[in-house]
Amino acid sequence: MEITNLTRRFGGRTVVEDVSLSVMPGQVTCLLGPSGCGKSTTLRLIAGVDTPDAGSISVDGRTVCDDTSRVPPESRSIGLMFQDFALFPHLDVARNVAFGLSGPKAEIRARVRAMLDRVGMGRYEKAFPHELSGGEQQRVALARALAPKPRVMLMDEPFSGLDDRLRDGIRDETLDLLKEEGAAVLLVTHEPAEAMRMADEIALMRDGRIVQRGAPYNIYNAPHDLEAAAFFSDVN
Ligand code: ATP
Ligand code: MG
Repeated sequence: MEITNLTRRFGGRTVVEDVSLSVMPGQVTCLLGPSGCGKSTTLRLIAGVDTPDAGSISVDGRTVCDDTSRVPPESRSIGLMFQDFALFPHLDVARNVAFGLSGPKAEIRARVRAMLDRVGMGRYEKAFPHELSGGEQQRVALARALAPKPRVMLMDEPFSGLDDRLRDGIRDETLDLLKEEGAAVLLVTHEPAEAMRMADEIALMRDGRIVQRGAPYNIYNAPHDLEAAAFFSDVN
C-alpha cells in the first residue's frame, strides 16, 4: 500500500497534512502518536469512509483514491479492525464471518470454516456473540476481517479493549496470521512500547504530520527531537 501527500482539513484546521506512507505485503507499520494527532482520521481516509482534500492512495499498485477517481470502501481490498468494531449481535459466529462475502454458498461456507479454524474458533460456528468472551469475540472479528482476503489491514487500537493477560497473546497471533496471509498492516497505537514490539517500521505522527519514519530500533536510538525522545523514554 502506498499513500502519498494525504491531506484532510476540517473547517479551517488541517488535521492530516501531507502524510506519505508505504507498507509492503507481510509488513507491519505502526502509526504512533499522541491522542488527537490524526491517526484515526488517516485510517478513515485510507479505508475510504472519508475523502481527502488532496493526495492519493494505492493498493497493490492500483489507485483507489486520487484527485480524479475514488474507489468505494468495499472495493478497495482493505480490511478494518477497530476497538469498537462489534460483531452483529443477532447473527451467529458463522454468519458474522460470512457477512459481506460473495460467491457460491459452498465456497463461502468453506472459507468461513477455514478462517474460524485458523483463529481457533472452529467449534463456535453456531454461538452468538453474547455467549463469547471479549477475546473470543476479537478472534471472530479477526476471522471476519480476514475472510475476504484483504491486501491491506487497517487496525485502530483493536486490542485495547482486552485485559492484559489476553492482549499480548491475541495481538501476537493476529499479526502472525496477517503476515502469513501477506497483508500489509497499518496498526495505530499511542503506546511506544507496543509499537517497538510489533512494528517492522514506525511512523511517528504529531499534529497531523509524520515527523519520523524508520525501524523501531533506529527511532528509539535516534529520535527526531526532544519531544520524540520523551515519548519513548518510558520504553525499556
Ligand atoms: P486518539 O489517539 O485519541 O484516538 P487520533 O490520533 O486518532 O487520536 P483523530 O481522531 O484522527 O485523532 O483526530 C484528530 C483531530 O481531528 C482531533 O482534534 C479531532 O477533533 C479532529 N477531527 C476528527 N474528525 C473530525 C471531524 N469529522 N470534524 C472535525 N474535526 C475532526
Ligand atoms: Mg484515534
